Amino acid sequence: MKELLSNLKSVILLRSLRARIFVIILVIGIVPCILVRVAIVSNYESRALETKVSTVQNQLTITANHLVANKYISALTGRADDYTGSLDVMDAEIEMLGGVYEGRIMIIGGNFRVLKDTYGISEGKTIISEEVIKCFQGISTSYYDSNLGYIELTTPIADTTAGDGAGVIRGVMLTSISDDSIVGMADVLGTNAFLLEMIIVVLVVALAFILSKFLVDPIARLTSRIGAVKAGYNNYLEPVNDCSETEHISDAFNNLLSRINILDESRGEFVANVSHELKTPMASMKVLSDSLLESPDATLEEYKEFMTDIASEIDRENRIITDLLALVRMDDTSGQNLNITSVDINDLTELVLKRLRAIARKQNVDVTFETGRRVVAEVDEVKLTLLISNLVENAVKYNHENGWVKVSLDADHQSFTLTVEDSGLGIPEESLAHIYERFYRVDKSHSREIGGTGLGLAICRKVVMMHHGRIDLTSKEGEGSRFVVTIPLIYIADAK
Ligand code: ADP
Repeated sequence: MKELLSNLKSVILLRSLRARIFVIILVIGIVPCILVRVAIVSNYESRALETKVSTVQNQLTITANHLVANKYISALTGRADDYTGSLDVMDAEIEMLGGVYEGRIMIIGGNFRVLKDTYGISEGKTIISEEVIKCFQGISTSYYDSNLGYIELTTPIADTTAGDGAGVIRGVMLTSISDDSIVGMADVLGTNAFLLEMIIVVLVVALAFILSKFLVDPIARLTSRIGAVKAGYNNYLEPVNDCSETEHISDAFNNLLSRINILDESRGEFVANVSHELKTPMASMKVLSDSLLESPDATLEEYKEFMTDIASEIDRENRIITDLLALVRMDDTSGQNLNITSVDINDLTELVLKRLRAIARKQNVDVTFETGRRVVAEVDEVKLTLLISNLVENAVKYNHENGWVKVSLDADHQSFTLTVEDSGLGIPEESLAHIYERFYRVDKSHSREIGGTGLGLAICRKVVMMHHGRIDLTSKEGEGSRFVVTIPLIYIADAK
């Protein structure tokens, strides 16, 4: 029920693609249809009116000429000494004309008096209207009153031979005809067009319904197949190949799925590694404590020695957990939550080196710092400290007795470069590609011996990435290593 309501809502708000397609087809199909009907009917009306006016006007002009030829006006006004025709014949012609066009014809004489009215109502009356006056000046007029439904025409009764050849207007024919025939035809045409339009509307609605379903169907299929993946029936999306768009979405979805699977696998591997790493110190502690418990005559010296070993295993466990937490926290924030401040990198490096010189001295490793200029950059001070100390600590740890570590700092106008170089063991070529992986160690037992967790370089890489920098390594086994970190001086936050 809830789903039905939400479907209905999305259709009403046109949020549904199908509803949109439906409406678009409907508008494209029906609007032109209505416009064409309206245009055809109104065009017919005006054309039919024009034709009728010109036909009637022609007929009236012919009759007007007959009236002139028969001196009809002067006969009616009683000045027809030379009257040649028969009034009855002319009257009949006028009556017939009125009959043919279902209208009323009035003949108006020079003094605006009505001499003849086919309706016989207005004879003897005076008609002075703008049209009649215009017509006496020789201009025939026509006027259509669509509300009252008639056409009014005026036709001059012109005697072209009188007035020394210039012509004289003897009278005016004022004709009113009904527009019934035109309106009737327009109505029939309108009704037919409307019926046709209704048929088209039904067809367009059916077409819109079928077409919208046809176009949206692949998306519906895609949704249901994604649903099957979500429900766990399938672990890959069966591609919907109906159109290239759904094909692309299927491909993209499957790519995403395989990335999720890889991530899942690597997370499993990571958890296994973590458990293994955490178990190793535990196992050592267990062995140490068991052997103490099993030897009741152990001396105080032996106890002290074993407890020192246990304490160092606890330290190791602690280090692993601290490193792991540092890494996971950086994963969590994914670079969004850096505490960026303006930091003097020279001072920071000096501070880190001061702390590490004590360890270096134990191994007789000489640590030097070279810098030509003062570098101030926008960085996260805590994370950068972690980066520098990890790199320098490694350079000391994986070094020979009496070896050296050279740290140098330089900058251009865009970024600063921190180089950590050592005269140590170096890294074999086959390990270079894995060196930043979590828990990867070139020599596991040696690394453990010297307190390594296998997470240091993974942390370094993460810190560099978070600062949008890069880390490069060149190393040769037996000769030494050189880590070069480049970080922009100004931090630009990721666009969210
Ligand atoms: P660890 O805690 O073991 O030092 P890291 O992630 O810091 O872990 O380093 C990974 C491995 O890379 C180390 O175990 C070591 O074998 C190698 N490594 C790192 N830095 C150096 C270096 N400066 N010289 C030689 N080997 C190094």
